[in-house]
Amino acid sequence: MQKRCTCGHTMKLILRTVIYVHKVSIANVPVFSCDYCSHNEVFPGVKEDLGQLVGRMGAAPEPQTIFFDEKHEWAGVLAGLIAQKEPIQAASVARRIEERTNELLDLLLVASSLRDETWQMELRSRLSQLSAQYIS
Ligand SMILES: [Zn+2]
Repeated sequence: MQKRCTCGHTMKLILRTVIYVHKVSIANVPVFSCDYCSHNEVFPGVKEDLGQLVGRMGAAPEPQTIFFDEKHEWAGVLAGLIAQKEPIQAASVARRIEERTNELLDLLLVASSLRDETWQMELRSRLSQLSAQYIS
């Protein structure tokens, strides 16, 4: 859960608030951050979804605060760890992803027995947000 900064120091994975066009606060975005040179980089696995979220707002959004951990499962996993004061380490993240995946799979069973297509689609997209993290 660490990355080497261009300055040579180690970047830590944290959640931080990103401000979009001075109006929209997007809270709990997973970001690699360097304490040494203050360089920040959005975590690669959420970049695309964050881009889509911002893209949907257009150029002149209403002032608002969005909690990214409610929009994205990976950010939700990290926010859950922080809330329980657990370290953001590969082992605890992997365990939490597994727990959350099982929860979502249970819900998917419920959704499919109700033949609720919309809910099934949403759950599948949430599952893909979790599994995509293993690839990147
Ligand atoms: Zn640095």
